[in-house]
Amino acid sequence: MVPDLRELTKITAMSLLENFERYPLTFGPTPIEALPRLSEVLGGRVEIWAKREDCNSGLALGGNKLRKLEYLVPDILASGADTLVTIGGVQSNHTRLVAATAAKLGLKCRLVQESWVPVEDAVYDRVGNILLSRLMGADSRIVDDGFDIGIRSSWREAMQEVRKAGGVPYGIPAGASEHRLGGLGYVGFAEEVRAQEAELGFRFDCIVVCVVTGSTQAGMIVGFKPDGRADQVIGIDASGTFGKTRNQVARIARKTAKLIGIDEKISDTDIRINPDYAYPAYGVPSAETDAAIRLAARTEGMITDPVYEGKSMQGMIDLVKRGFFLLGARILYVHLGGVPAINGYSYRYRQA
Ligand SMILES: *Cc1c(COP(=O)(O)O)cnc(C)c1O
Repeated sequence: MVPDLRELTKITAMSLLENFERYPLTFGPTPIEALPRLSEVLGGRVEIWAKREDCNSGLALGGNKLRKLEYLVPDILASGADTLVTIGGVQSNHTRLVAATAAKLGLKCRLVQESWVPVEDAVYDRVGNILLSRLMGADSRIVDDGFDIGIRSSWREAMQEVRKAGGVPYGIPAGASEHRLGGLGYVGFAEEVRAQEAELGFRFDCIVVCVVTGSTQAGMIVGFKPDGRADQVIGIDASGTFGKTRNQVARIARKTAKLIGIDEKISDTDIRINPDYAYPAYGVPSAETDAAIRLAARTEGMITDPVYEGKSMQGMIDLVKRGFFLLGARILYVHLGGVPAINGYSYRYRQA
């Protein structure tokens, strides 16, 4: 279909983000596709669609962190930094995509990889995300600290080390979430979905998204607030620290709304997060997570991982089965990426 130029201009002109510079790291709008076989095996009472953020870029297999980083890059370049410093778990997707961004910009990259996940797979620290980060030239160092979505001392120490070695660091918190500009990318996502809905000729009734460090869902809440749909974004917690994650989403949503000048207040009822699927722990799939991963793979060839999307897939499947969604509802499952980590679970999935 030939895009109507006036329509496109109108959408751009209406953007909440027009005062913010964006450095493109992604291909552009991500596809929305129907998942008819998955919808059918779940009883055919709802229509499930997927927004493929996992296919958003040619940078190191892509994922949601790139949409956030697009709004950080102008600030990075303006800062005069020569080294990006960030933090995550050993199989962090975020650290992989910061490493990719650094490579693309010609900057150095220092990664603090904490032992967030009690996984004992023999290849866990050699495959998937960490392998890719190493290939891209990042200085990746594993430390012993456990899971936490907040600001860590190991991250501050890494910043200090870069300074001592004569470098100029630019620090990016876990998931880019606690960064001033970290919520903007998913405000843009909401605007993109609205434009795609106009083309599809209908609106989604509900948007299902995985949540851990919070700026993905927070951005969506802000982006969907102007058309009264903030509370149609259902976060599925995969952190296992629900209270912290919920507070972080609320804080980021409010800060982001203020930053872009949205007058309406983000209320507590705008923030909907379901804590029921994060068990047994962050990074550890349950038998139900495994079943959800297999079902999406076998009905749609859509791969989800045991840390993030496997849990949001599990949550969506369970909510469909329980009749949480109205009959005929159109659900948009947001696939945020994360597939490389599944290689760290090779022993778990050694049999079909
Ligand atoms: C980071 C990440 C999430 C969670 O996003 P937050 O913004 O941290 O809440 C979900 N899925 C994947 C694949 C991720 O990499």
